[in-house]
Amino acid sequence: MNAPDPQAGRRSPFDLSGRVALVTGGSVGIGAAIAAGLARAGADVAVVTHSRQDPATQAAIEAAGARYAAFQADLAALDGPGMNDLIARVEATLGPVDILVNNAGIIRREAAEQYSDEDWAAVTELNLNAVWRLSRAAAHGMLTRGHGRIVNIASLLSFQGGIRVPAYTASKHAVAGLTKALANEWGARGVTVNAIAPGYIATANTDALRADPERNRSILERIPAGRWGEAQDIAGAAVFLASGAATYVNGHVLVVDGGWLAR
Ligand code: NAP
Repeated sequence: MNAPDPQAGRRSPFDLSGRVALVTGGSVGIGAAIAAGLARAGADVAVVTHSRQDPATQAAIEAAGARYAAFQADLAALDGPGMNDLIARVEATLGPVDILVNNAGIIRREAAEQYSDEDWAAVTELNLNAVWRLSRAAAHGMLTRGHGRIVNIASLLSFQGGIRVPAYTASKHAVAGLTKALANEWGARGVTVNAIAPGYIATANTDALRADPERNRSILERIPAGRWGEAQDIAGAAVFLASGAATYVNGHVLVVDGGWLAR
């Protein structure tokens, strides 16, 4: 048996030292804030990039003293074996993935009766199917090791219907359901599966809403916090769900919305 760690009693339950996190869409927006937050809590971080990269994200992770690695991938185009290969490449670089944050997601806006099959497929392929496939790929190692944390990024539209975003709403409702289904299967084997439902956060995802003065005003009026959220507002919830402090939190969708749903 290992000798007791004399520091163990002083370690914060939020400490992620020695952990490896994989964050999809982790170079920009909410994903970048989560990636930097996990690094500040002690984790080494791999990010999946797609078309945009922000060098500031790498700098923030390395400034925290963490290791950083980037992997370019179109997650909407990867099948099961492709996801297994992505996990294998990350693990060959940084070591076993302890924390998976399924953050990458897109939104396409159009009146429901005009909504195209192409937009429907693009949104559901990334927002739902990729979450499922990457979770399954990461779970193989996590279940073998008896430890893992999966954090999915859901939405207020996991609870509400939204306007002109039928595929997004359907996919985010499904992410909430998938979170619970996987939590039920893997919880007793050391792998928790939870989700964060961000409110209205100022990122590229919501540019169109903020550019529309009427929508911007009506959204702001309803947020009890009195402001749009910042990507940084989501980081603490991700650190919590990835940490030892959340060991008994499983199958939960944690709303971080400045009070929107309370109205
Ligand atoms: P964002 O800045 O547009 O970030 C989306 C991320 O997904 C980017 O890193 C993007 O990479 C990546 N991505 C897009 N297509 C991809 C693909 N085919 N393969 C791999 N990665 C891909 O928006 P965000 O607001 O930070 O969104 C992050 C998550 O939060 C999404 O799941 C979104 O639905 C969710 N969310 C956002 C809000 C909000 O108010 N902003 C609210 C609730 C939930 P590229 O840019 O390089 O393509």
